Parts: sequence; structure tokens; C-alpha cells
Amino acid sequence: MQANKLDISAIPAFTDNYIWLLTAGGTACAVVDPGEAAPVLAALEIQGLDLRYILLTHHHPDHIGGVGELLEKYPATVFGPDDARIPYPQNICREGDFIDLSDLYAQFRILEVPAHTRTHIAFYGENSLFSGDTLFSIGCGRLFEGSATDMQRAMDKLSALPGATRVYCGHEYTQANCAFALQVEPDNAALRKRAEDVNRLRAAGKITLPAILGDELAANPFMRTHEESVLNAARKIDPEAMPGSSAMAIIRAWKDRF
Ligand SMILES: [Zn+2]
Repeated sequence: MQANKLDISAIPAFTDNYIWLLTAGGTACAVVDPGEAAPVLAALEIQGLDLRYILLTHHHPDHIGGVGELLEKYPATVFGPDDARIPYPQNICREGDFIDLSDLYAQFRILEVPAHTRTHIAFYGENSLFSGDTLFSIGCGRLFEGSATDMQRAMDKLSALPGATRVYCGHEYTQANCAFALQVEPDNAALRKRAEDVNRLRAAGKITLPAILGDELAANPFMRTHEESVLNAARKIDPEAMPGSSAMAIIRAWKDRF
């Protein structure tokens, strides 16, 4: 059978969250990280969709807050990490698991990427990555429950995915992330180009996602902690900075102060 092509669109929520809506030509759909129900219910109504799946990357309220209300209207299957702070019946996802969204002809592999939270997961499949608050375009999540070593490990894991992978993150943070990244790598041509594109998109009120993983590898300082230019910037703060998690700790702390 010829699988329908997966279509992925953003439902804006709160001030800068994105809830990702997945469809495949029929009425079945999935959402990723529905922090609030109202904009999802409106989108389903307008587009005549039937919610079958809910994917959750981590337990933060701005990513799961709408699940209860959505489940009252739609008996959707919920997939998420093993975390008691997610108070809904759900299929627990672990590293290497595959989830089959058969109504959308789509499969995703689970990547455990603890750092922003200790149980954060990402969904990879269909040339797409739902990275929640772990990988942002030109940035990464804050270290609420993990270490710089954890975040480095997460970046290494995501870096190994194909460069053409489309990255769907949880927030529209790209413009501010570019402003910080340019402090780290002012001479990075790929970053300067991305910053210009992002400024143009935001001035027109447009979304900056999905990002392309290969572009992130060229411009996102948190994916470039082995590069001499990022190391040199880290060494201006701590002359002892080393490639990898050491540089990650320094530039993540710098970003927190930025
Ligand atoms: Zn979060």
C-alpha cells in the first residue's frame, strides 16, 4: 500500500510554544506536546480531524497541560516517557522503542535525551525529529534536571541522525538563540546566514521551524562544542575549557546569564 505523506504543521500555544499537528491525508491526526487543549480543539474542528495519538516529550506543564481535556473528547493513545509527573494513562516509551502510528502510516523511534528533564525523550522518524525542549534551533534546553555531560550526550546522539532530518522543537526561540550564538561564533558564516533568514521570517511574523539538522550542525554552538571556534569562546571564560561537556557547561551557563 502506498503510504500517504505525513504533513506536519504548527499550532501556536501560549506565547512561544508549538504544538505539532501530524496528518496524513485522512481525518486521523496526532499532536506532539499539547500544552493547552483549546488551540488543538479549534484546529481539529476547523480541519475536521479526529485525534488518535498524543506524543509527549517531557512532563513540563506547557507540554502536557492540554492532555486531560483532549482525552475527554478523543480516546487517543498517549505515548510518553516513564515519569510519574505525567498523570495520564500512557504507553511508556524507552530508548530504541518504535511506536507505530498506523492510522498515519508513520513510525517513530524513541531517543532518550535526559538533560532538560531527567526523563526527556525525542521522537525520530519520517525524516523528522520532535526534540521537545532538548534541541532548539540554534540552541538547547536549560539544564533543569541534568548535567552538561547529559546535554552533551544528547547532542551527540541527535548529531548522529541524518543531516536532512527536519527538527521540530517545542518553542519559537530561534531569533534570541541566534543573538546569543553570534556572541559565541561571530565569524560563523552559516550562523550569520541563519540569523539573517530568521530575522526576515520573524519580521514577517513567520515560523522559523522546522530547522534542518545539517544546518544546526553548522550553526548551533551547542552542537559544536568540539569546534575550535566554540572552544576559543569558552576559553575566554575558562582557560581550562575542553571539547565536549566542559565547553557545553561553560556556554550553557553563559547562555543562562545572557
Ligand atoms: Zn520544558
